[in-house]
Amino acid sequence: MKADAVQEDIDRVLEVIEKLGFRPHAMPGASRTAIGITGNNGSVDPAHFENLSGVAEAIRVTKPYKLISKDLRPEKSVIKIGNSSIGGDELAIIAGPCAIETQEQVFKVAEAVAKSGAKFFRGGAFKPRTSPYAFQGKGEDGLKIMAEVRERYGLNIVTEAMDERGVDLVEKYGDCIQIGARNMQNFSLLKYVGQTRKPVLLKRGLSATLDEFLLAAEYIMAEGNYDVILCERGIRTFADHARNTMDLSIVPAVNRLTHLPIIIDPSHGTGRNYMVNPLARAGVAVGADGLIIEVHPCPEEALCDGAQALTLDQYAELYAQVNAIHEILAKEEMSIAVS
Ligand code: PEP
Ligand code: MN
Repeated sequence: MKADAVQEDIDRVLEVIEKLGFRPHAMPGASRTAIGITGNNGSVDPAHFENLSGVAEAIRVTKPYKLISKDLRPEKSVIKIGNSSIGGDELAIIAGPCAIETQEQVFKVAEAVAKSGAKFFRGGAFKPRTSPYAFQGKGEDGLKIMAEVRERYGLNIVTEAMDERGVDLVEKYGDCIQIGARNMQNFSLLKYVGQTRKPVLLKRGLSATLDEFLLAAEYIMAEGNYDVILCERGIRTFADHARNTMDLSIVPAVNRLTHLPIIIDPSHGTGRNYMVNPLARAGVAVGADGLIIEVHPCPEEALCDGAQALTLDQYAELYAQVNAIHEILAKEEMSIAVS
């Protein structure tokens, strides 16, 4: 739609699309609203819309994914989460323990995260563990502790849901629903979160290609939830010096194809404490919109993923370094734009 299109113009386009038997997706942006169409089997004649009031242009999207595509919306989506957002000028830092263990553990980390200036807190209440005998998370009690974190420290809560019941609970207590790597192609769960109105952090599957990753995001958006943030968390390769191989080249690839923000998880991506900061810095340098980082007051006592957890001091150091890199990049971009 044109930048000066009014709501009536948008409503008229939506009505025309519905009358044709298709599904319209109105996605408001910073400067203009894009309206996607799904449910069509072949090409739709642009003549249906082209001459309607407020319409700027009708574009045919030929890729397998439509709503995530830059063809539909060239500008980056800024996804609102609670009282902050991901995809804007600020680097988004999501930090917290792998798993919610005790209130004391959680508050210690939350205090450090809030003090650093970060806006988002992570913590798992439902943990996808390889072994059924490993700590599975505290469930709803864990979510209640995170809701207290929001009240006390003003942080926005990002936490994983593994099934539909979990989604309902995260909707109640959290601000952003995380879909973990192992569920990236759980299509019924993707459809279910697509029907919620909470933003979704979608992690890349352990061996997912770029197209599979993007189509998983498309599943969520096709249901009407356009608030999706992608997350690279490392993939399985032959390399065994790290837990996973961080595929940083996916960041520019994603930024070329889609308007969705993408963040990096160097904690699960490396699985090694000493690798987290270097890969976090690299992630910011390649253009990620943010980071998700595991932090524990006492990593050696962590019930889950202690080997990759940063101490509070290490986290503070990382926060300062990645923001310094982000600032340099922002200045560079400005000078490129000016010259
Ligand atoms: C997590 O972030 O807690 C997690 C389990 O990550 P992943 O799904 O990427 O393994
Ligand atoms: Mn973890």
